[in-house]
Amino acid sequence: MNIHVLPREVFNKIAAGEVVDRPYSVVKELVENAIDAGASEISVEIESGGKGLIRVTDNGGGIEKEDLPYAFLPHATSKLESAEDLFGVKTLGFRGEAIASIAAVSKMKIVSRAGDKEAFSLSSNGGNMGEVLPAAGARGTEVTVEELFFNTPARLKFLRSDQQEEGDVANMMARFMLSRPEISFTFTANGKLKYRSYGDGLSSAIANVYGAGILRELYEIDADKHGIKLRGFIGNQNFSKPNRTYQSLFVNGRYVVNQTVSAALTNAYASYLMKRQYPFYVLFLDVPPEIVDVNVTPNKSDVRFADNQIIYGSVYSVVSAVLDGNSRALEYLAKTPDPTPVQETIPLGDVPSQHKVLPPMSYDEAKKELAFDIPTVSSKVSLPRRDLTDARLNFEVNSSYASPAETKEKEDYFEENKKILLEEEKKQKQQKVDVKSLRFKGELFRTYLFYECGDDAYIVDQHAAHERLIYDRLRQKLADRTASSQPMLVPFVLTLNGPEFAFMCKQLPVLEELGFEVGEFGGNSIKVSAVPSDLMGMDLAAFFAEIVSSMESLRAIKLADLLKDKLASAACKAAVKGGEFLTDEEAAALIARMDGDMGLKCPHGRPVAVHLKRSEMEKLFKRIV
Ligand code: ADP
Ligand code: MG
Repeated sequence: MNIHVLPREVFNKIAAGEVVDRPYSVVKELVENAIDAGASEISVEIESGGKGLIRVTDNGGGIEKEDLPYAFLPHATSKLESAEDLFGVKTLGFRGEAIASIAAVSKMKIVSRAGDKEAFSLSSNGGNMGEVLPAAGARGTEVTVEELFFNTPARLKFLRSDQQEEGDVANMMARFMLSRPEISFTFTANGKLKYRSYGDGLSSAIANVYGAGILRELYEIDADKHGIKLRGFIGNQNFSKPNRTYQSLFVNGRYVVNQTVSAALTNAYASYLMKRQYPFYVLFLDVPPEIVDVNVTPNKSDVRFADNQIIYGSVYSVVSAVLDGNSRALEYLAKTPDPTPVQETIPLGDVPSQHKVLPPMSYDEAKKELAFDIPTVSSKVSLPRRDLTDARLNFEVNSSYASPAETKEKEDYFEENKKILLEEEKKQKQQKVDVKSLRFKGELFRTYLFYECGDDAYIVDQHAAHERLIYDRLRQKLADRTASSQPMLVPFVLTLNGPEFAFMCKQLPVLEELGFEVGEFGGNSIKVSAVPSDLMGMDLAAFFAEIVSSMESLRAIKLADLLKDKLASAACKAAVKGGEFLTDEEAAALIARMDGDMGLKCPHGRPVAVHLKRSEMEKLFKRIV
């Protein structure tokens, strides 16, 4: 067999596999082209999940008649001149591969009108180009892709159901709406309008994707640190999501899943969120183009930073300052809120007409709030949340889609991050005190325990400490599947109504895993005959009342997540109440069980211990100044 160069059609088909593998990746490439063309309005239509038809229309700069055939050629691009340009890519596309690849595996037609010139069209059937013909068309470009993968049966077989493919396209579109809040997008599937954004700002785009109610739970940040700009919205300390799909990061306008940034955010939220709860964010990280490499993978969903430490450090310090409410938070909170009311630019039958979005929190409000409450030891400042007019901006159907962002998780952080994480851990360890060197000095208000250790004093909130210890132990046992039960002398019977009973019955296996012994007990009753040994004496009525009362919101959450939440509150209730008297031995035992860790926080994020230096005491008494 002789070696020969593959015919172009074959080569393009092979290359197509790298760029486009599903309808959503076609939509991604076409919308990115429209954005690069400077469009302010982009509409996307699909049929049969994109398998039948994908049409992307924009009002951007268009393609000149003589350029039209070049758009279909591989490695033909108007966005890059030389290899040097690769170090400062400002457009989303630069490889010149997308159109050629998509054309190779579909029936494609481009109609384009550059500025005030005539419109022209060019079609291709599986990569075989036709003639450039005069056409009718508005300013901008319309790309139609039909019968995707008609000539690559193997790839066609790997597509999922129409509904699943449509869902992925919808997620993609939501991400575009968030990443380009200045562009107005419409997304239609099988003739039905699914998403619309109005090009009037980020808070409006977030409201259009997630519903306006979410803005109440968010802080708007706008920070500049070491020339690295971080802006957008982050969830407050109590607002968590059961997975990572509510996280959107845009680096220089490009959607990215990046471990460095993700680790920084995870760590900033670490003391507020429990395990397997994830923060919400829509963040824009803008860095000088020369310190970021976007040329990592063909589908470009990761970037490489020249210096991960700086990126990590900047993101971590900004987000943790805002969450901890320390004085720097003011610097990082957005100074000009993004209050533009959502405007209905084009009348639509099924969109509610009165939708106004208020800013989640203004700078002045935050400042006022913080001015009265400069936290010294308490790490939390609650910022005011404004009530919003009940603006349900998202169309009903939105909720049936998962939220944007990748669920993909990598096992390992970058090497650099590991270093940073280790340092963090070391810092935590420094807060550790040798239990043997601690001397119990008494208690105050039957809540606070005092310990002395050389020139240091520690005040421990016995309630918070106990709560944390029980919580850790329960979680551990749950993980090891070693939760043990303690039978009750008198069983506890819980009588419920129909829906409550049905709901609780579904939870029984998980409760059992926890160490409860529970079962149906005739009618709509449930009998509890044993409780987890760690929770002996807990207030069962309050525990179950809480689960039942949050039934509605819990139904949507996966069970495992519900549990963690409930575990924490159950631990709280069962823990030593402030006001109970501890013997010296019990106090000593408590600190021993804490293993001297003074950096602990209770499951709700409150600190367990406060450190007081001798010098601080001496300052109080003006022994030193
Ligand atoms: P790339 O985006 O990497 O340059 P593509 O294959 O996606 O490569 O597109 C090839 C070229 O076609 C682009 O460089 C651009 O000049 C032109 N083009 C594609 N889509 C559009 C559009 N919607 N509006 C204007 N020009 C476009
Ligand atoms: Mg492109």
